[in-house]
Amino acid sequence: MVFEDQYNFESLVNETEELVVAEIGRQLPEYPDLCTCSECILDVAAYALNRVRPRYRVSLLDTVYVHSRERSAYLREIRRAVTDGILKVRTNPPHD
Ligand SMILES: [Zn+2]
Repeated sequence: MVFEDQYNFESLVNETEELVVAEIGRQLPEYPDLCTCSECILDVAAYALNRVRPRYRVSLLDTVYVHSRERSAYLREIRRAVTDGILKVRTNPPHD
C-alpha cells in the first residue's frame, strides 16, 4: 500500500487560504477600479498566500491551538498581505 493512501490527507484544511479568500471578499468593495476577473482575483490570492506563514489544521479537530493575541496578529498579517496583493494587481494586472 502506498503511504499516501494510508492516511486521509484531505482532512488537512488550509486555514490561511480560507482566511485570505474571505479577506479579499471583505476588501474588494474598497477597490471598485480593481479588475475582478478570475485571473486577477486568483493573482491577488496567490500573492497574499505567498507572503503569510501557512497554517493548517486537521478538520476533525477544531481550532484550539491559536491564542487570541497570536490570532489577531495573524489576521492583521493577512489583511496587509491582501491589501498589498490588491494594490499590486491593480497596478500590474496579469492581462491587458
Ligand atoms: Zn482581470
